[in-house]
Amino acid sequence: MTADVLADLRSDTLTRPTPAMREAMAAAPVGDDVYDEDPTIHALEERVAGLTGKQAALFCATGSLANQLGVWLQVAPGQEVLCDAQAHIARAEMGAHGALAGITMRTWTSGRDGQPAGVADWADIEAMLAPDAGPYLVSTTCVEVENTHNFGGGTIQPIEHLREVSAGCRAVDIGLHLDGARLFNAHVETGITIGEYAELFDTVSLCLSKGLGAPVGSVLVGSSEQIARARVQRKRLGAGWRQAGILAAAGLYALDHHVERLRDDHAAAKGFAEEVAALVPDAVDPAQVPTNIVVLRTPGPAAPIAAAAAERGVLVSALGPRMLRAVTHLDVDEQSCREAGRVVGQLITDQP
Ligand SMILES: *Cc1c(COP(=O)(O)O)cnc(C)c1O
Repeated sequence: MTADVLADLRSDTLTRPTPAMREAMAAAPVGDDVYDEDPTIHALEERVAGLTGKQAALFCATGSLANQLGVWLQVAPGQEVLCDAQAHIARAEMGAHGALAGITMRTWTSGRDGQPAGVADWADIEAMLAPDAGPYLVSTTCVEVENTHNFGGGTIQPIEHLREVSAGCRAVDIGLHLDGARLFNAHVETGITIGEYAELFDTVSLCLSKGLGAPVGSVLVGSSEQIARARVQRKRLGAGWRQAGILAAAGLYALDHHVERLRDDHAAAKGFAEEVAALVPDAVDPAQVPTNIVVLRTPGPAAPIAAAAAERGVLVSALGPRMLRAVTHLDVDEQSCREAGRVVGQLITDQP
């Protein structure tokens, strides 16, 4: 690999805490969180509960853990959660929901009929719902939606779709979990508040360690009763923690200082896409880059292009045989992303 990295666009988890964030971490009052005595964790949990309009919140080590707990709260062993075939819970959580919680999953396929990839459509979900399915079929007890949608390319779920999904599920008493790993990206782009999104779901997970730039941490929100149960299950999974207020402090700092700047990441992603499209119009439509994730279609195999780009200091992921993903974040700027876009665009053009 190369010595000089121009832009590391593999993921928005790669950010390092800024000096000011580290100062906030160093200064944080802490206590033992298993004893429920960490004041900084309390402050973070109250803050996020307030932001989302939920009764309670639980600080978790990862978004995968927050999703596991959110779904576990709503689905008993032998019951099912429905989600997109490209959902993080289905593809990127190492089968935890099945392996650890006995939960089964059925998936719908998004991105048909010219819809952006990842957009949840009530008609698809309604056709699959099996509430109280009786002694012969698996009962659906939860529907899970991701906003923004990672593998869909940072897709924002249209609020009217979410309202329809929410109302439809609630009418038949089916729970709703929102994987809001990047809900703040949707929020800054649409102006729709975190609370407006969250009220459509029973539980919501939010990542502090993605675009918000904290080194560790996600938060699960729900009712007081749900969060009390989730706290016990978190400990059961071995994920109770102690003086983690130093991490919660980074999350609080991020909420104060790094939300509005997500817009810069979105501009940088669009800039990257524009430079690629100027050279390879078929690879990406910059108008279809809603947030901080750019998915490129490559005419030939994607992996050699990612490898050649790495030699030129541009790190992107080959996420499919002919698909590259670039993600912008706090540690890259628009100028370097534009330069990175020219590098990748040229490599795609030159591919034999
Ligand atoms: C990153 C991510 C998560 C959580 O990932 P962790 O690495 O477990 O923190 C959850 N959902 C989506 C959509 C993500 O992109």
